[in-house]
Amino acid sequence: MSFDAIPYYPISRFYKERFGHKVYKISVAVADTCPNREGLRGMQTCNFCDQWGSAAYAQNLEKPLSEQIEAVRDILRAKRGAEKFLVYFQAYTSTFSKVSRLREQIELALSYKDVVGVVIGTRPDCVSAAFLELCSEMTARTFVAVEMGLQSFDNEILKFMRRGHTAEQSVAALEKIAGACPEVNLGIHLIFGSPGETDEMARETAERCNALPIHNVKLHHLHVLKNTPLAEQYACGEFVPLEREAYFQRCMIFLQHLRRDIAVHRLSALSPRWDELVAPAWSSYKMETYQGMLKYMKDNNAFQGQMSVR
Ligand code: SF4
Repeated sequence: MSFDAIPYYPISRFYKERFGHKVYKISVAVADTCPNREGLRGMQTCNFCDQWGSAAYAQNLEKPLSEQIEAVRDILRAKRGAEKFLVYFQAYTSTFSKVSRLREQIELALSYKDVVGVVIGTRPDCVSAAFLELCSEMTARTFVAVEMGLQSFDNEILKFMRRGHTAEQSVAALEKIAGACPEVNLGIHLIFGSPGETDEMARETAERCNALPIHNVKLHHLHVLKNTPLAEQYACGEFVPLEREAYFQRCMIFLQHLRRDIAVHRLSALSPRWDELVAPAWSSYKMETYQGMLKYMKDNNAFQGQMSVR
């Protein structure tokens, strides 16, 4: 694999290899809650999560699925000339409610001729037998990706984030999906920058990823959004976000140790609403952050998998 242009394996390249052309994700919201927000087993809202459950298009939350798909598709067509799409069931936890409902929603998404597959967001404690059955059935017909928000492999950090699950549960859930539905394209979301985390832990995280049956990762720095528990922790000095260079360093170390065949969705977090970001300020400059990260890796002659033994 060549890293001439960019020093990592971007998901856009994976999509091109898989579909033979560019595909764009249409982010939709079919769920309006999750185990944390429901307070199951004494759980609490994750400390970084905003009131929209990370939905990309909060204004679409109330709309029927067909309207959401068409609205975002029109934007992507107009802005980027997009022709083929994956419908991404993103906000909150899409697998928390009845699987029969999710099945109908997937069928609706696939009824659009230019939709070439679906991406389903979930979390480690929402992988039921019925969901696995649905995945198996759907993979026989179309491309199915599952993105699991597991955020960290460190149980202290998971407690700090109030995730309500352990690293062991995350690994078990991934292995369960891969075992039952080997055709599923499996990804995980990670967040770097919690208190107590070190560069060495970024290396260990990559090694944990390398041993897992996953195909892609999505990287975020821990940023503070308005009206979140983390905003309160930030206000009273309990949480200090990483400086830009410190994040670049951690992200670079992670990528250097990550298997080369694991595609990478994005390199940093993005606040879906421009006025929602509290800190760090550098986070609001999306392109500068991305370009800065690429330059940082180039200056360090770094590329994905350079130090991976797999
Ligand atoms: S990050 Fe996901 S699981 Fe956590 S509170 Fe938000 S929607 Fe729920």
